[in-house]
Amino acid sequence: MTSRRTFIKSTAALGLIPLLPISMLSQGVDKVTIDDPVAKALKYTEDATNAVRSDRGGVAAADQVCSNCEYYTVVGSDAASGSCTLLGNRLVVGVGWCSVWVPKR
Ligand code: SF4
Repeated sequence: MTSRRTFIKSTAALGLIPLLPISMLSQGVDKVTIDDPVAKALKYTEDATNAVRSDRGGVAAADQVCSNCEYYTVVGSDAASGSCTLLGNRLVVGVGWCSVWVPKR
């Protein structure tokens, strides 16, 4: 059985790393956790329905999630999470939310 480490080493040696799906490579990308001090300060949650939100920028509170925030960028083909520029381009959950939420232009 080939371990993941052995697989990555062998594919890297063959120069195949650039051919791997970004979702595989992004496993090493830092993910924001709710314990993160900055995330806590921004009241980040991985489930927007748990947050106390109010209508903002013409968008109903219930419709505000990370995936439609100005600071959110989809990474590769992973629709469930994306990077947040406000949180140092670390990954946040698409259905998450924080108090800085701004509608995507
Ligand atoms: S700034 Fe936007 S994308 Fe980033 S955590 Fe807050 S709501 Fe989500």
